Order: sequence, then C-alpha cells, then structure tokens
Amino acid sequence: MSKSSVKILGYGVDDYDFEQALDYAQNSAGQVVTINPEMILTAQKSPEFTRIINEAELVIPDGVGVQVGLRILGHKIKRIPGIEFGRSLLERYAASGKPVALVGAKPQIIEAAVNNLKNEIPNLNIVYTHDGYFINDDEIINEIVSVSPELVLVALGSPKQEFFISKLKSLLPQSLMIGLGGSFDVWGGFVKRAPKICQRFGLEWLYRTLKEPQRFKRIFPTLPLFLLKVLKEKISRG
Ligand code: UDP
Repeated sequence: MSKSSVKILGYGVDDYDFEQALDYAQNSAGQVVTINPEMILTAQKSPEFTRIINEAELVIPDGVGVQVGLRILGHKIKRIPGIEFGRSLLERYAASGKPVALVGAKPQIIEAAVNNLKNEIPNLNIVYTHDGYFINDDEIINEIVSVSPELVLVALGSPKQEFFISKLKSLLPQSLMIGLGGSFDVWGGFVKRAPKICQRFGLEWLYRTLKEPQRFKRIFPTLPLFLLKVLKEKISRG
C-alpha cells in the first residue's frame, strides 16, 4: 500500500483512515507515533525527538488538535485515537496468535490491564509485561528483545515512550511498536474514557481536564499556541 502524508509545522502525518492505518501497521515493522499538539511543540525544541518522529514508519493523528490544525491547512483528515488503534492491533495480533509485549503504567495498573485484556481478547498471546517505573531502560529492552514479541505497546507518556521505542526498534527490527500514553490506565479500569458524546465531538481533552484539573496547565498553553503557530504557517503559505 503506498502511503501519502501531509505536513503540519514541518511534521508529516500519514493520510490514512483508521482501517487503512491498521492494515498498513499490521503489515509493517517499526515505530507508530500517535501525534498530538503537545508532542509537536515538544519536538520543535528537541532535534532528537524531531528525528524520531521523522523516522517513524507511521504517524497517526491522535486527538482533535492535530485534526483542527490540519483542517486549517486545508487537509481533511479523521482522528485516529491511539487507545482504539492499540486495542485493534492487539485484536489483530491475537487473531493469529502473534506474541505481544506491554510496558508501562504503575505495577497494579498494568497487572489489571493485562487481566482485563486477556479476558476480553481471545487468544491474546502476551509474552512480556513490565510496569513503567524502571530506572534502567537497557535492562528492560534486553528482556523484551530476548522474548521476540512481534508487537510492543509502550505506555510511558510522551516523549519518554517514543525515545524508548526508538532504542528498542534498532534491536527488534521485525516488530511493530507504538506509544500509547495513558491507555493502560483506561484498560486497567483506573481511568474512565470520556463519554461517547465527548469523543464524537473531539472534546475528550475537555472532559479529561475537568476530571483532572492538574492537566489544565499542560493543555491550556499548548492548544492555543499550537493553533496560532498553524495559523501563522497558513498565512506564510499564502
Ligand atoms: N508512566 C510510566 N512511567 C513513567 C511516567 C509515566 O509508566 O515514568 C505512565 C503513567 O503511569 C501513565 C502514562 O505513563 O499510565 C502516561 O499517561 P498520560 O495520561 O500522562 O499520557 P499522555 O497520554 O497524556 O501522554
């Protein structure tokens, strides 16, 4: 399948819908980045993070901010929520019994998430799990490499998870890996996703901010600043 991508503030986002992205990912190896405004602003200050995003095999638009930004630039692209994408990948890999690994979140949370996933997804072949509060990346990376998973889900928050995956992918070049932020907290039953109506209108960020007001500081300078930069880009493109 040939891939086309669109650019936002210099970062490529692949122009796929959910199913196309899933088909592409399932038949590929390497890193999937679920990009959002916060990551783009962080990457603008970090050449290393920029390199990681640019070298990712697939970049999907996670969240309404990137969708709105792309709309401003004249591209109509649908959001692909990372949490749903990760879940569908697990289902597809389970269908063929392929080995998967999960790394991230607090110990009791990943344990609950794995139990729930095993109950909900038949034939899920989990060969490795570890919580996300380790000191030595290389130790965990060596453990993962030694069990050769074909899919690795990493939930350490961004950009930590993208840096971790970037190291891992050079040692496991045949496997697919994706960073999933707070997804294990949801799968473990510790955090609720926003109601469907909020999801539909792209207001998950508002729901999460109201539930966890400490996120306000994170989201609020970010989203308007990101959209302002996109507007500036639009104006300069003419
Ligand atoms: N986390 C982790 N190790 C760390 C820092 C964070 O495993 O050193 C986990 C944290 O427990 C949570 C997830 O990473 O499960 C980050 O969630 P958050 O909602 O902040 O991520 P976002 O989706 O906003 O990037």
